[in-house]
Amino acid sequence: MQVAPGVYAIRSVSSTAYLIGGVELTLIDAGGPGSARRILSYVQRLEHSPHDLTRVLLTHVDLDHVGGLPAMLEATGARVMAHPEALRRIRAGQVPRGERGLSSTWAALRHLLAPVRPLAVGEPIADGTVLPILGGLEAIWTGGHSPDHMAYFLEQPRLLFSGDLLQVGRGHLQAVPGIAPTERTETVAALRRLAELDPLVVLPGHGPPYRDNIALRLVRLAEILEE
Ligand SMILES: [Zn+2]
Repeated sequence: MQVAPGVYAIRSVSSTAYLIGGVELTLIDAGGPGSARRILSYVQRLEHSPHDLTRVLLTHVDLDHVGGLPAMLEATGARVMAHPEALRRIRAGQVPRGERGLSSTWAALRHLLAPVRPLAVGEPIADGTVLPILGGLEAIWTGGHSPDHMAYFLEQPRLLFSGDLLQVGRGHLQAVPGIAPTERTETVAALRRLAELDPLVVLPGHGPPYRDNIALRLVRLAEILEE
């Protein structure tokens, strides 16, 4: 599904991956195990070859976001960019299963059948880095959901790829902090920082795009977490 000019949401196994077009393609997250075929067939439908996909950015390392990564890299030869802690987890083969109800049960089963092996890949990406993708894609460390969690912000037209910091369920935008008190504090700070960017659309790791009064809603979510 095209969500903005040159930006596509792809329902992968257990989560949503996003493809950003251009001469070279960038993928944000690689879905759960078994996702590579779906993502690659979408790439081909856009009349691109797998080798046009040169970059995979990760929001964080949970099985429902990186399970499809090994097969994607094999097919495309893409570079992986992520937070240093995410790269450490990938290189160590430490891939949490995520916690997404039925879909994660499925993912857990796939994980048992085909665990994600350590991958010696990746380039660290620092908070605040702006990558030259469609006029500028900023990496924003959020923590909150997990210590390796990054969001990505496409400056034109103000699209926020929120990973699992935010999800959309039953039409509502929700914050999904981890259980530790520090993760709650990080989430509050991240929500306030993201609100200042005044996003037009939130593209979450789970759920459909969200377009309704986002900045206000992010501030409200931060206030609720602080109560
Ligand atoms: Zn997830």
